[in-house]
Amino acid sequence: MPELPEVETVRRRLAPVLEGRALERVEIEDARLVRPFDPLVVAAELEGERVAKVDRRGKYLVVRFDSGRVLLIHLRMTGTLLHQPTADLPHRRALVTLDDGTAVAYRDVRRFGTWLLLEPGELEPYLGLRLGDEPLGRFTAKALGERLSGRRAPLKAALLDQRTLAGLGNIYVDEALWYARLHPLRPAGGIEADELRRLHRGVRRALELGISRQGSTLSDYRLPDGSPGSMQREFRVYGRAGEPCDRCGTPISKARVGGRGTWFCPRCQVF
Ligand SMILES: [Zn+2]
Repeated sequence: MPELPEVETVRRRLAPVLEGRALERVEIEDARLVRPFDPLVVAAELEGERVAKVDRRGKYLVVRFDSGRVLLIHLRMTGTLLHQPTADLPHRRALVTLDDGTAVAYRDVRRFGTWLLLEPGELEPYLGLRLGDEPLGRFTAKALGERLSGRRAPLKAALLDQRTLAGLGNIYVDEALWYARLHPLRPAGGIEADELRRLHRGVRRALELGISRQGSTLSDYRLPDGSPGSMQREFRVYGRAGEPCDRCGTPISKARVGGRGTWFCPRCQVF
């Protein structure tokens, strides 16, 4: 599932394609993408809009138009945006033709992705309810401590909660906790000041490495030109049960935390 580094990679590649361009023709081929709204109505509303900027917030792509409206895209499990797709692209759910004659297709095998057209002023209240701070913005260890304070949930579950920090998912939480040398089952509210600083650094390190490797491709994720990311080669724990820890050589363990597969080193991530 695309997390912050994957969505940020898509944003960086799509911004030069979309910014300054008008959406000439919009075809929404799967009603589920825009439900509960009518796909024909949404497509007609989008046609003629000119893209001012492509931003990201957490795992959302924020396509801002000159009109002040916003198209908020969430890729969920398997959503992919492709520039200049082939005509026979399987699992295509939408196709946008730009005023320079190029096209961007939206592909989604599992069909959990969403496109939501927001009117001016609607974005901040919508995201404000759902998302905490951006982990790569002006985010401090102290602010992270305030978010975790008093919480009895396991650290892993607290970090997966998008209201703690925006953009982390199963892969980057496990990687961040390995860098921070913190056990995923530690109660989130019991993290000491020096551990918080390690966690703050670990989160940023995992995400920055993910961005520099253009995300991780385990199945569906692709860059807009169709190429895969390479972060999967840099995983320290994720999916590596039984393999030696890069720091101490102990075999990586796998557990389930809140129903999610969780990988960690039982020696350097002490409880
Ligand atoms: Zn280790």
